[in-house]
Amino acid sequence: MMDTKLETCSLCNKTSILMESHLIPRFVYEWIKNTSKTPYIRSSENINQRLQDGPKFYLLCEECEQFLSKLEDEFAKNFFKKIANYRNQSTTLTVTENMKTLILSVFWRCLIIYKDNENDRTNEDTEKLLLLIEDLKRQINTKCDSKIYFLPFYGKEPYYDIPQEYIYLLERCIQPADARFLDEPHRWYVVLKLPFMYFYIFSDGFSDAEISGGTEFTIGNIEIDKINTLPQILRAYIDNDYREFLKSKKDMSPTNIEKISRDMMKSNSNTGSDKSLYRSLGNKKRCIFIDI
Ligand SMILES: [Zn+2]
Repeated sequence: MMDTKLETCSLCNKTSILMESHLIPRFVYEWIKNTSKTPYIRSSENINQRLQDGPKFYLLCEECEQFLSKLEDEFAKNFFKKIANYRNQSTTLTVTENMKTLILSVFWRCLIIYKDNENDRTNEDTEKLLLLIEDLKRQINTKCDSKIYFLPFYGKEPYYDIPQEYIYLLERCIQPADARFLDEPHRWYVVLKLPFMYFYIFSDGFSDAEISGGTEFTIGNIEIDKINTLPQILRAYIDNDYREFLKSKKDMSPTNIEKISRDMMKSNSNTGSDKSLYRSLGNKKRCIFIDI
């Protein structure tokens, strides 16, 4: 029997039986599994544990869950899978209002869960974060008015002069949205990482110089192959992501590394995961670490 709870839906405020929703849409985890050698994923929170699925939470009523799930299907088919694609990436993609709403809804879901995590936020930060969550909710229920930016990884690497060893992270890692706060003036930016792409939003208070180079995820056609810059602030964020990625790799136990290596030997197929790994290693010797 399905687990159910009678509570308030976080999106429409109706009292209802809440459904379990994925923090990051299910299709993203499916993509990871379908392009891997084993049907597992790992989280940096506990790198030694194999998971069959991404984290889920009781947030939404059935109606809201279905509403977002339709948006997910559209985004997955007409955008995500056209870039997160090892064989054939599309050069021109069409962004719709539905896709923007979906991306905002993923930010919103992540931030609701993230706000209760252990953190070093000041009261002022938390206040801003709660306002952002409310504002995202308003936009999902009405119309998107936030400027969303995105960074796709398209074509031949190196991507945007980002070091080659980052490729595995760029192409395959998922990172739920989190918020970073900066002072003077007090401001924030939020970043969401999906395979082959980042999405990010800036608050007010950033100078043009700080955010220049970003590509807006805006309604209409976007020529992915023409994008060649990213803001400095996102570049620094990606550097930090890579350091975190290395740290979680280090935490992997020898037993686990052995297990992964055994699974890799068993399977001869050349998966997407292998392709990213080989390119990440450049000309270096094949390493036995893999994300799955
Ligand atoms: Zn609802």
